[in-house]
Amino acid sequence: MTARPVFTVQRHHASTLHFDLRLEVDGVLVSWAVPKGPSLDPAVKRLAVKVGDHDLDHATYEGRHAGGRGPGTKIVWDTGTLTNLTRRDGAEVPLADAVATGHLKVALHGHRLTGAFALTRTAWGGDGSSWILVKIDDEGADPTRDVTAELTSVLSGRTNTDLETVEPD
Ligand code: MN
Repeated sequence: MTARPVFTVQRHHASTLHFDLRLEVDGVLVSWAVPKGPSLDPAVKRLAVKVGDHDLDHATYEGRHAGGRGPGTKIVWDTGTLTNLTRRDGAEVPLADAVATGHLKVALHGHRLTGAFALTRTAWGGDGSSWILVKIDDEGADPTRDVTAELTSVLSGRTNTDLETVEPD
């Protein structure tokens, strides 16, 4: 497989609103639920709760779901490709290893998210599911832009509200 790995961020309005950040790693989407969503301000740390992997085809999923984990709507809030920037002693660390050891750095090539982001596991909560998402200070950083106030899908232009009236899957 020579294609660049993909990332997606879905705005998921379920019992609570959150943003699902998913990174392609070895053929699956390794995923975090980010309650407040990503920030473009390098001074802002956002909690990212590690959740289960998803299949690659979920990267472009939008719709309304009725059952399973409860009702909700999901749009593709951002998507694109990613570059692994994780290094240790000057050598690239494969993303799967970086996830396992609890620290990774990726450049995102999206519509709203560009440049480098770091994800680091913390001891919060004690079960290893709590990570911190932070923007690295580069050309993609913009402390003045409240990017989570942007509500449309980058694929369809629809909002979560628009999907509340479509047939559930
Ligand atoms: Mn979710």
